[in-house]
Parts: sequence; C-alpha cells; structure tokens
Amino acid sequence: MAGMNIDETHDPARQSWVASANGHPDFPIQNLPFGVFSAQDGGPRGGVAIGDAIFDIAAALEAGLFTGPAREAAEAASGRTLNQLLAAGSAARRALRRRISALLDAGGREKDSAIAAGLVNDASVCDLHLPARIGDYTDFFAGISHAMNGGKLNRPDNPLMPNYKYVPVAYHSRASSVRVSGGEIRRPNGQRKPAGQDDPDFGPCRNLDYELELGIWVGDGNRLGEPIPMREATGHIAGFCLLNDWSARDIQTWESAPLGPFLAKSFSTSVSPWIVTAEAIAPFRKPQAPRPAGDPRPLPHLWDDADQAEGALDIDLSALIRTPAMRDAGLAPVALTQSNARDLYWTVAQMVAHHASNGCNLNPGDLFGSGTISGVEPSSFGCLLEISRAGQQAVTLPNGETRRYLEDGDEIFLRAHASAPGFVSIGFGECRGRVSPAL
Ligand code: CA
Repeated sequence: MAGMNIDETHDPARQSWVASANGHPDFPIQNLPFGVFSAQDGGPRGGVAIGDAIFDIAAALEAGLFTGPAREAAEAASGRTLNQLLAAGSAARRALRRRISALLDAGGREKDSAIAAGLVNDASVCDLHLPARIGDYTDFFAGISHAMNGGKLNRPDNPLMPNYKYVPVAYHSRASSVRVSGGEIRRPNGQRKPAGQDDPDFGPCRNLDYELELGIWVGDGNRLGEPIPMREATGHIAGFCLLNDWSARDIQTWESAPLGPFLAKSFSTSVSPWIVTAEAIAPFRKPQAPRPAGDPRPLPHLWDDADQAEGALDIDLSALIRTPAMRDAGLAPVALTQSNARDLYWTVAQMVAHHASNGCNLNPGDLFGSGTISGVEPSSFGCLLEISRAGQQAVTLPNGETRRYLEDGDEIFLRAHASAPGFVSIGFGECRGRVSPAL
C-alpha cells in the first residue's frame, strides 16, 4: 500500500462540519474530489464535493483562506476549467487538498471562519460541468475478460489478438462528444450490415450498448518527443472518474475492419463530474495480480516493481439500468454489472507509459478510458454485448422486461466505491445517461 502517500486527510476519525458528509457513501471529508459547478450566483468555477454540498474554491480564495502553495493551487482551480490545476501536478493538488480538508474539519481551527465565509453550496441547486477542457481522449482495452468475451464471438478458439499481452491496446477516440453525466444520449444513425444481408444500409443503431469503464485524468503532461518512463508514470495521473463509452455494436461490426472503432463510439461518451484524485485513491491501491502462468512478462519499458507492488486499484464498479416502465412504476435502477478495477490486465501507469513511449505528448486534461471492466463471472460482464452474447440471449429484469441491447428511454447509471480496512470508504458519484430516439 502507498504508505508514504497517506496523511492526515485520510484520517478515518476526521469528520466535517458539513453534516451530510459524515457517513456519506460517496463524498466524506476523506474524498474531496475536484469538479466545476455553477450556482445561482454564477459560475462555472472550481469546487469540491463534500457530502450533499459543494465547497466553493473561488469564494474561499476571496475570503483569504489560502496561503502559499495552496493559494497558487486554489487560483489554478477557481476558473471555468481545472486544466491549470491538473497542469500544476501532484504537489500543488496535495497542498490544496490538505488545506481544504483543514477548512472543512469539524474539529479544525478554521471551522468558524470557513462557516462565516459561506463557502458551501447545496449541490442539489448547482449544475455540474465537465471538469476540464479535454484535448484528447484515448480509450484503452485493458479489461482482459471483456477482450476475451468479445473476441470469443468471432474467434472462439483464439479470442485474444497476439499483441494483447504485450501492448496496452487502445484507439484514439473523440474528445468533442465527451459529456458530463446527466445528458440525453441520442441513438446514432449509421451504416449497418446484419449477417445475411448482402449490402449495408443506413439507419438508427439497433444494438446500442453501454461500457462500464474507469476514466483517467492526465495531470502534468510531457513534451513532444520525450517519453514518460514507467517509474514516473503514476505521477502524471491526476485522478479518476466513471466513464460510459456508449457503443453502437451493429455500426461497430461493419466499420471496424481494419482500422478499429470510429462512428460506433464517437457519437457520445459520458463521464462522472468529479475528479477523484490520486491522493484520495491512495489507500485503495493494491498489488497488481500476477499474470497467469505462461503469459509473457511485459517488456522492460512497461515494467516497474513499485507499480507492480501497488498499481492495481481496488474500486468496485457497477452499472445499473432503469427502463421507462420501471421509471413509471417508481422502481429503482437494477444492477446489470458488478465488477472491480482490479480486473484490469494493465495498470493505469502502464497505459500512461505506453501512450508516451513513442514520444507522443500528453496534456493536462487529457482523458483515458480503461476499457470495459468485466470480471470472469457473468454478473461482472461490463456491457450488454457480453451479457447478451451479442444479442443471442436476452437478460430478464426483475419486473419481467427483457433486454438484448438498450431501448429508447432506458437510463444507465454507473457507480463506483472503494473501501479498505482502517479507511473511510469513498465513492465517485454517478455517471448517468438516458437514451433518446434517433433523429
Ligand atoms: Ca470502450
């Protein structure tokens, strides 16, 4: 475990004077994720989720509550995007986290001045925005069970491509259509060529799917031509979110050979609004599971002992569905998938090092998707392609409805929580989207 990265902000005894934070499933004082919000008095500007409230960084800055490195970091975090804060790196982020934790501490010396300054907004009357301007978005394929399950549909005897265990495979996806949780997901039109049909046609996607992924926010980047070595890769990761890589399977099947997904993915990607920082995640790091016997060891430029010792992330993930009929009946969403980020075959540091290994420059606010995170059990399959075996077997929901793929009006909710003995559990908030009919 990352013992050196544990400090007073992780103290399980620390409580907040924001009462809703204490025992909050997502945002206790030990989490303090960064995001961008608007309140009735304006915005967008940087904030921190605390219980059912949002701490206003700019207001605290104006009240003179920051000094030194925390003040510089707060200035970088008070505008309409957090790119400057991400660029400032882990020392700045950590200084700001420690100061905000002290300001929100129920037993802290700053409690009265923080309350007097009116620094928290009721989250239910705020709007949340994308936390950063995303220059580039890359989607990896690091969930090996997902890769196996998808590959088996086409190559039952040899599901993984020969490069899979050497290369953290990825494709370059579309940044402009990444949207924050809560929006409508318009069913895309595209070229489809179902089996048995001689020629393709163009029309609404029939096999619309979700993908349960971890999002990774890049912090400080690297200069073009200068790779990031493995031992430094973790330091370039600012934090994490939930990511739904909405996928049009029929369009994907037809278009993907030989260059991979394009319009089947670029129509929409959803992310949860809060950047759960690398600091908040520190207690939940675990050793990367040893590779199965017979698997090749990663090449030296993707190997680091320290990363192997603590590069896996023990984060429980879930995807839930609520259909229009469930909504009308007042039923809660039901789980389709429950998996864990430890099921990733590659660590996030290996993704960073691989991405920059050719000299490609990463920039603050770049976004990675981990790839769909599935486990071995069917209950942990991270998308409907796997759950329905490409539409061959429908899943029956508790109210008797069935689904092979998503229908108009269906809502998908992604959630994530991390817990470890001796620490307060934290969550990611929600990544939600509702399918609307094709144009
Ligand atoms: Ca994906």
